[in-house]
Amino acid sequence: MTSITDDTSLPDAPAPTQGSPLATAHTQLASAVEILGYDAGQHQMLATPRREIHVAVPLRRDSGETVLFHGFRVQHNISRGPGKGGLRYAPGVDIDEVRALAMWMTWKCGIVDLPYGGAKGGVAIDPRDYSTAELERVTRRYTSEIMPMIGPDTDIMAPDMGTDEQTMAWVMDTYSVNRGYTIPAVVTGKPLAVGGSRGRGTATSAGIVHVTAAALEEAGVPLTDVTVAVQGFGKVGSHAAAIFAARGARVVAVSDQYGGLRNDAGIDVDRLFAHVGATGSVVGFDGADALSNNDLMGLEVDVLVPAAVEGVLDEDSAARVRARWVVEGANGPTTTGGDAVLARNGVTVVPDVLANAGGVVVSYFEWVQANQTYWWSEEEIADRLEQRMKSAFADVSALARRESISLRDAALVIGIKRTAEAHTTRGLYP
Ligand code: GLU
Repeated sequence: MTSITDDTSLPDAPAPTQGSPLATAHTQLASAVEILGYDAGQHQMLATPRREIHVAVPLRRDSGETVLFHGFRVQHNISRGPGKGGLRYAPGVDIDEVRALAMWMTWKCGIVDLPYGGAKGGVAIDPRDYSTAELERVTRRYTSEIMPMIGPDTDIMAPDMGTDEQTMAWVMDTYSVNRGYTIPAVVTGKPLAVGGSRGRGTATSAGIVHVTAAALEEAGVPLTDVTVAVQGFGKVGSHAAAIFAARGARVVAVSDQYGGLRNDAGIDVDRLFAHVGATGSVVGFDGADALSNNDLMGLEVDVLVPAAVEGVLDEDSAARVRARWVVEGANGPTTTGGDAVLARNGVTVVPDVLANAGGVVVSYFEWVQANQTYWWSEEEIADRLEQRMKSAFADVSALARRESISLRDAALVIGIKRTAEAHTTRGLYP
C-alpha cells in the first residue's frame, strides 16, 4: 500500500512534520480550500496564525529546586470575535501542536456558529509529576506571562487535556488580581462558585452523544440498538460512556492510557466511575475482561469513539477498525492516512471539529452568562446545547450529501467559509 502523505505545500511556510497534528490540520485545510475554490492568498491567510507567544515558565518546586517549562498561546484567527480555546498541560506540547489545535478551534467555533475565532495554549509539562501547589504556581506564572494576549474580549481560555476547572479558577484569579477587579469572563470551564456554568463539565461528552444519535438517525438506527467502544476515560471519554449508557446504548469497551476493558453484555459505567475514583484507572475493574488499547480499536462495534489524544488512527490502526461510525471525541485523533483508509473501508467519520464542539458551545453559554451576570438553569443549557449540536450536524450532513464529500470536508467547508467571509467582509486594513 502506498503511504498517504500530508499536503505541506503551502507557499512561504515551513513544512510541518509529516503525520503531525499540524500537517494533518494543513492537509484538511488544503482539501477544504480546494472545494471552496479560494486562491493562494486566502489559503495562506487561513493557514497562518494571527498571533503567537512563546513564554518561559520557571517554577520553584516544593523542594526548593527551580525548573523551567515552555509555554505557548496561539491565536489562530480572530475575525469573528475573540480567540477561544483550551489550555493543555502535556509533556509533548510544542508550538506546532498548539498551532494545529488553535486552527481546529477556529473551524469548530465557525461550524457551531459561535462569535469567536480560535486559539489554544499549552505548557510542556506532565501535570502528574507535580503537586497541586506546584501546578498552581505554574498556572499563575504562565498566566502572568501571556497576560497581554488574553482577556474577556480578546482571548478566552478553557480546560483541555491536563487542566481542569481549578486551573481555570487560578487563571481567572491571577488575571483579575492584576486588573484589580473580578473578571469571570476571561476563562470558561470555571467552578460554579466563581461563575462557571451548569453543564459545562459534561458538555463535550453530551455533544458527542447528540451528534452520534443524529448520525445514527440518518441511517435509521436507534441509539438503543448500538454497541459503543470508547478510547480514553478522561474528562471527555468517561462522561461520553456514561451518557451513552444512560441513553440506552451498550458500552462494551473502554480504555485509558494504562489499559482497557471489555464486556459484551455492557459495562456498568456508574460502577466503573467508582473504581476509577478509587484506583485512578479503569484497569482491574471486576465487571469486565482486560483488553489492550490496540485491540479496542479493532473491536466489532457499531460506534468507536477515540476520546484521548491525537493521531491514534493512522493508516495501520485505521485498517483494523471494524466500527461503522467513528465519532471523534478527541481533537485530531485521525491522521491523513487514517482518514483515507477509513473512507476506503466505508466507515463514516463524524469529525472532531463537529463531534466535540459541545464543550466550546457551553463555554460560549458560560461567557454569555458571565457577561450578563445572569445564570441559566441546567435544563436551559442542556436544551440549547442539543439544539446547536443537532442543527450543526444537520447543516454538515446536508452539505456532505449535496456535494458528495465527507462529513469532515463538509464541516471544514462550513467553518472555513464563515471565517473567510468575516475576514473579507471586514476588508483588509489598511
Ligand atoms: N478544550 C476544548 C476543545 O478543544 C474546549 C475549548 C473551549 O471551551 O474553549 O474544544
